[in-house]
Amino acid sequence: MSARPLSRTARSGRNLVVVVGSSNTDMIVRVPRVPKAGETLLGGEFSTAAGGKGANQAVAAARAGGRVAFIARLGRDSFGNEAMECLRKEGMLLSHVVRDSAHPSGVALIFVGSDGENSIAVAGGANQHLSQSDVAAARGVIARARILLLQLENPLKTVAAAARIARGAGLDVILNPAPACPLPDALLRDVSLLTPNETEASLLTGCRVNSIGSAAKAARILQGRGVGSVIITLGAKGAFVATRERAELVAGFRVKAVDTTAAGDVFNGALAVRLAEGCPLLEAVRFANAAAAISVTRLGAQPSIPTRREIDSMLQP
Ligand code: ADP
Repeated sequence: MSARPLSRTARSGRNLVVVVGSSNTDMIVRVPRVPKAGETLLGGEFSTAAGGKGANQAVAAARAGGRVAFIARLGRDSFGNEAMECLRKEGMLLSHVVRDSAHPSGVALIFVGSDGENSIAVAGGANQHLSQSDVAAARGVIARARILLLQLENPLKTVAAAARIARGAGLDVILNPAPACPLPDALLRDVSLLTPNETEASLLTGCRVNSIGSAAKAARILQGRGVGSVIITLGAKGAFVATRERAELVAGFRVKAVDTTAAGDVFNGALAVRLAEGCPLLEAVRFANAAAAISVTRLGAQPSIPTRREIDSMLQP
């Protein structure tokens, strides 16, 4: 049995978007070049930023005008306190963010060279301990929502449990399969909409996805495994959308890109909000393309995420 296709209209009063996902503190050192093993480089410039795919997508959804609940695990440490503060400022519901005394908050250590090359190590910490019972405890919030948005920076069993609960409650489930890993068909059958980028679609299907033709082939393979609809994001080209009835490219917006960090996160957060509002799929994808295009014109992850007003003005003819 395949997941039911996305329904076209939101049930009244049910436009809540629930994001189950990760939160990290990105610790960034800008260096002349990425250091080699055993090497010490002096003269770097340090900054920190809120990150993690789950938190980025939740913030993107909130700024796109969505009512958002975030379900996550943060350590009881100063990074966790700061992350909570950032999330609270976005106005989202945080009653199911668990503070974990036994594990530190997630951290990503990032070197960025002056040539743009980077090297990243992620210590998932508390994100790795978001459990099936954490999402079960949030069942009441999930059941009130219209869309559940998931990524893969938490244990796969937890992601699958969240999708199962949502499917049972009649929600549409969007899974952004990032970072990519092999996925069981039982999880894919609970997914209404899968949103890989080209690399992730390639890894999930074994087809090299780098064109509209190869995206169409990969989408068909994923639909054959039980996913309802598939959107393969294609960078500046936009997004390839395949439903049971049709498949087509929704063209991206032409902008001058300066930093594509979190483009996919912004795309997913914005998409979830428009779908929760009852917008037809292709129109929601155009909205998501606009939001992500704005984000690539700015530096950083969460600082680059646009507001609803900015997205709407990008969409003006
Ligand atoms: P990821 O960030 O996950 O690698 P993509 O690179 O496919 O994903 O980008 C996600 C979305 O961001 C694209 O579908 C598109 O809407 C937008 N986007 C990315 N790069 C650009 C760009 N250079 N110009 C305009 N839009 C872009």
